[in-house]
Amino acid sequence: MSDFLPFALPDIGEDEINEVIDSLRSGWLTTGPKTKRFEEDFAAFVGNGVEAIAVNSATAGLHLALEAVGVGPGDEVITTCYTFTATAEVVRYLGGEPVFVDIDPCTFNIDTARIEAAITPRTKAIVPVHFAGLACEMGAILEVARRHGLKVVEDAAHALPTVQGGTLVGTHPTDATVYSFYATKTITTGEGGMVVTRNPDTAKRCRTMRLHGISRDAFDRYTSTKPSWHYEVVAPGCKYNMTDLAASLGIHQLKKAWEFRQKRESMAAVYDEAFAGLPVLLPPKAPAGDTHAWHLYVLRLTDQAPVRRDRFIELMAQRGIGCSVHFIPLHLHPYWRDRYDLAPEAYPDALHAYRCAVSLPLFTRMTPDDQARVIAAVRDILS
Ligand SMILES: *Cc1c(COP(=O)(O)O)cnc(C)c1O
Repeated sequence: MSDFLPFALPDIGEDEINEVIDSLRSGWLTTGPKTKRFEEDFAAFVGNGVEAIAVNSATAGLHLALEAVGVGPGDEVITTCYTFTATAEVVRYLGGEPVFVDIDPCTFNIDTARIEAAITPRTKAIVPVHFAGLACEMGAILEVARRHGLKVVEDAAHALPTVQGGTLVGTHPTDATVYSFYATKTITTGEGGMVVTRNPDTAKRCRTMRLHGISRDAFDRYTSTKPSWHYEVVAPGCKYNMTDLAASLGIHQLKKAWEFRQKRESMAAVYDEAFAGLPVLLPPKAPAGDTHAWHLYVLRLTDQAPVRRDRFIELMAQRGIGCSVHFIPLHLHPYWRDRYDLAPEAYPDALHAYRCAVSLPLFTRMTPDDQARVIAAVRDILS
């Protein structure tokens, strides 16, 4: 048996390694000049005048963003059940209740047409998740949100970079957009995340709450007459700041984000061509003019496939190939199931998606030989 091919691997170059060494030698280990530079670079990357607030995970960023837009006890937040638990758990941190909506069976994104029926007088916000890196229908979601006076915070953990309607995810007129730099994501800082927003009040609140609720104004040596050791705590904040070690990775990963996306798209096209004719549905493409981030390549086995999904993953593992499943829908997990008394059939499209979906290895360090190996295994198992 040849070496095991994992489902994902980070792509760290000499520039990242040297930047980390530079930080280690500088003495700045925690939040400092590298984090500031990463935030500036990220804001420039997204464009459209956004501010960027670096944090130690997307989970932290989603928590801060929802707190900043005013989600509190008893508030309802509409999101998809077809996501990672982080998207919903942050609502519970704030004493709110996530309200799940089923997915579009083609894109696996939240079904825009079913959002309105989930709105109640307690609804405060909508959290769309751009599944696999394909944008949700932001125009229609923003229209519903506007009509009902709801906030919109995007979970863009998969969507760096994704273009929709000629503009990057992160520049649409939502309240905030949150990215993840977890080790398997399209760019990585090991652990890390970024909040972007065009609203200065939201940005200020996220910055304050990211570090113990300490007011930055108190630190501002131009406006403050207080001594340099003085600070003011204005809220019970969190410890969510990004370290300069992580930012050192991010600065260089960000420069490669478009190149990485191009590689992922090319590899997805190779998979698409190789699997035509097999009993599978290929992942949906971005509409003309838009781009897909291709964080994940999710194949769907049809009823005609000779094996079911679980057996397929076992057979791939026997051939030394790691696969994954995105996602186990939240309503199947004991906590969410029991809290809201949800049957598996409560979200039939998510349930069906879960039963037939398998994420194949897709990462920029994969060689053509690696990909040929995956293709041969998939054809062998499904023919
Ligand atoms: C990875 C992921 C997150 C959480 O990101 P972290 O940086 O690990 O906190 C949130 N939402 C989705 C959809 C994800 O895939």
